[in-house]
Amino acid sequence: MKINIQKSQELQKRAYRSLPLGVNSNFRFWVDEMTLYMQKAQGCYFWDVDGNQYIDYRLGYGPIILGHSYPEVDEFVRDEITRGTMAAMTFELEIEVAEMLIEMCPAVEMVRFACSGTEATMHAIRVARAFTGRDKILKFEGMYHGFHDYTLWSTYSPAEAYGNRRSPIPIPASSGIPKAIGELVLTVPFNDFEIFDNVIRSYGEQIAAVITEPCMGNCGAIEPMPGFLQHIRQRCTEYGIVMILDEVKTGFRIANGGAQEYYGIQPDLATYAKAMANGYPLAAFGGKREIMSMIGHGVAQGGTFNNNKCGVAAAYVTLKTLREQPILKEIEKRGERLKRGLLEIFTNKGIAACVNGYGAMFSFAIGVESVTDQRSFSQSDRDAYLRIVKGAIERGVMPDYDEREPWFLCYMHTDEVIDRTLEVMEEVIKNTL
Ligand code: PLP
Repeated sequence: MKINIQKSQELQKRAYRSLPLGVNSNFRFWVDEMTLYMQKAQGCYFWDVDGNQYIDYRLGYGPIILGHSYPEVDEFVRDEITRGTMAAMTFELEIEVAEMLIEMCPAVEMVRFACSGTEATMHAIRVARAFTGRDKILKFEGMYHGFHDYTLWSTYSPAEAYGNRRSPIPIPASSGIPKAIGELVLTVPFNDFEIFDNVIRSYGEQIAAVITEPCMGNCGAIEPMPGFLQHIRQRCTEYGIVMILDEVKTGFRIANGGAQEYYGIQPDLATYAKAMANGYPLAAFGGKREIMSMIGHGVAQGGTFNNNKCGVAAAYVTLKTLREQPILKEIEKRGERLKRGLLEIFTNKGIAACVNGYGAMFSFAIGVESVTDQRSFSQSDRDAYLRIVKGAIERGVMPDYDEREPWFLCYMHTDEVIDRTLEVMEEVIKNTL
């Protein structure tokens, strides 16, 4: 790094003694064996402990949608917590937030809260298994649905490890995941109608759930091919499989009603977290009344912090703000301009690259014309991506180091901020490729 990060380096040395890798989530540990330590965040900016300022395109992995420390959200939370942060009973505000979710998300008739996306997908899968009386699940290579053992398979291994695309091999993404769970997991490449159908024909009657992100939000942001989500929907209906749409990244980001609204798709269950509470911990899963109402009738679901007041209060203001103002439309417009600007820079310089995703959540892949699944995404030039990102960070623009994480925008990324970002990116791309 060509910037002064001395204090971060000192903190890292100290943190190594108390935290594995000096961080509280493996993804926070960057390449070059370093990480930055934070001083503060405000709007679309953050400052590291050495005082360097960055335009933040990581946004805490996506939860910040209005902006860091958005005054209306923080003030409401501060006020609410003077009357208690937790209860072994239910606050009225929880019902308000549940009703808002149901009104905003087309496929959601009932919801339950949780604290993280991991919990939301875990609970959704449990309910789907209970509903169908089946054990297997089908997921797509390169998709990440959280850290539980059910789905931490084929999240991102080298493409060769997956075997031939006609007969994919599910690969656990960590030591410590029981092999026996692999017996219940089927994996296929995203956007491949034929291979999806082959697997459904062979195993459809044993599959409880197909779980899918609407786009590959953990491979940049690869969009579904036209009709692919609808195709999944149709096969799930034919085989009595529960379709779970994991909207942890897309929910309250690409549209008020998430990908359900954007693509006009009706899953049986959907999962939410991230942007729902502008950075406070709250998650939810919900869907058809027929399925959700099994909870409490032989199907267990719970969690001490599920109704944590900070998360619930933050969700209340965040969702209310999104409903009352055309915020996501504005973010989409600005993000689309940034996407177009980046593509123009690559095209003008004769660099093969594709820009994928939505204004609020996108990424680019270098050295490839298009990407449709993790296998094709892994053919892109990762080193070139890293060089670009490092150059951007040194100039005060902060996307994630990891090419799998999309660039996230929030409402505080103004037109001026987009202009500044494009200036930086033009210079970086000119100097690094
Ligand atoms: N599902 C998707 C699509 C995600 O991107 C993530 C996290 O990035 C999760 C689930 C897990 O969410 P959490 O980190 O809140 O447990």
